[in-house]
Amino acid sequence: MTIQSINPATGERLRSFEPLSESQIEEKIGRAAKTFRRYRRMPMSSRAQMMARAAEILEAEKEKFGRLMTTEMGKPLRAAIEEAAKCAWNCRFYAEKAAEFLADEVIPTGATRSFVRYQPLGTVLAVMPWNFPFWQVFRFAAPALMAGNVCLLKHASNVPQCALAIEEIFRRAGFPEGAFQTLLIGSDQVERVLDDPRIMAATLTGSASAGSSVAKAAGERMKKTVLELGGSDPFIVMPSADMEEAAKTAVRARAINNGQSCIAAKRFIVAEEIADEFERRFVKGMESLKVGDPMDETTDVGPLATVDILETLEEQVRETMAQGGRILTGGERLMRAGNYFAPTVLTNIHPDSPAYIEELFGPVASLFRVRDIDEAIRLANDTTFGLAASAWTNDDEERDRLIDEVEAGLVFINGMVASDPRLPFGGVKSSGYGRELSREGIREFVNIKTVWIKEEPETKLAETE
Ligand code: NAP
Repeated sequence: MTIQSINPATGERLRSFEPLSESQIEEKIGRAAKTFRRYRRMPMSSRAQMMARAAEILEAEKEKFGRLMTTEMGKPLRAAIEEAAKCAWNCRFYAEKAAEFLADEVIPTGATRSFVRYQPLGTVLAVMPWNFPFWQVFRFAAPALMAGNVCLLKHASNVPQCALAIEEIFRRAGFPEGAFQTLLIGSDQVERVLDDPRIMAATLTGSASAGSSVAKAAGERMKKTVLELGGSDPFIVMPSADMEEAAKTAVRARAINNGQSCIAAKRFIVAEEIADEFERRFVKGMESLKVGDPMDETTDVGPLATVDILETLEEQVRETMAQGGRILTGGERLMRAGNYFAPTVLTNIHPDSPAYIEELFGPVASLFRVRDIDEAIRLANDTTFGLAASAWTNDDEERDRLIDEVEAGLVFINGMVASDPRLPFGGVKSSGYGRELSREGIREFVNIKTVWIKEEPETKLAETE
């Protein structure tokens, strides 16, 4: 098996890499362990300087990195450049905040002094997806490195050039050789890496099946994991909502990243009373999206990242139709070179069909009508996923119920769900566990060490002298 970089807009093969051999993997794990012994003792201020330098590189060269992302996985160039800039923000955020987040925490007890100290674990393996090929990596790596850990990245097999570019950014920023290394390996080599006693923990962002297989392998070896998995996020619109804003945001929330985002809104749950108007505006909005070359600045939706993803989506739509679903717009791939799928809205969705049960990873929205807030919440929760939710209402009671009762790691009221370094990010149910970003994120891969000290009172010491 080779690791290949293929342009999804054209099908052109850009580069291929042979997966690392056993001895190359061994060498990289060894180097990480050796680096950790020194790196963990480096003062926080020195780590912060290097992280700030990584931010400068990302900011200064965001166009170049954006082009690389777009070439390998097809997201519109504008969004790819913004992604590189967001990574810079995240690096800066942790450069400035890590010392505060990881400061000793004094807790008064019967001891003379007792406190909690946050210490790095060692080498952490990150298994990452292609959909935000820079952001997913930086939001793990910036806090992990600031905490004093060292990182091994197994990136998705279709974005090897992004993986190597990220390694190069950390090297140029001054991080010691071995602090952040890319492992060009296939998913079948992940368990072998996890099996090494020098790997202390793992994080995976990706599908539920990949997450459960990594969690199982790590669990058997008593290694901590964080899992950021898929989602089928609800977007709930109630009668008191600002209709114009809700419908406009709904289109953006579904089409973001060519529809391939874990927190893209996927199930649109609308109160019957306003459903006709919402449907009209939403369908019109989806139809007005410009689908095409992701390098074109005016493109809203580019190609899906791989042929497999395109075929899976086609099959999910076909199966939903076979079970009585109705297409309001789109519904099929576009007959041109590249993996293009038309922005689509489905309705009349049967509870046994893929659009109800599974995550649709592409620009396909599922529209549901509900009688009232009770039915909206019931439907929003009728999924194995629990990543995020966007809910639109100006009724205080409804708002409080949505915040309390929707089963999700994030709830945004009257806004589109987005990640932000200042706020914790992560899901419940099959969307995973653990948190990234914020203070919670940097505390995932640390030893939370309790320290308890009894000291002789000074007066007593004086008496015995
Ligand atoms: P994926 O197929 O699960 O791949 C993700 C990563 O896991 C890749 O590096 C992949 O390597 C690896 N992998 C796959 N199967 C594995 C296994 N059995 N053992 C070890 N590693 C394995 O997911 P994807 O298609 O790249 O990404 C899309 C999914 O990620 C969606 O479900 C999306 O919702 C989710 N996602 C979640 C978040 C979040 O924060 N919650 C963010 C972004 C994406 P190969 O490429 O070599 O197969």
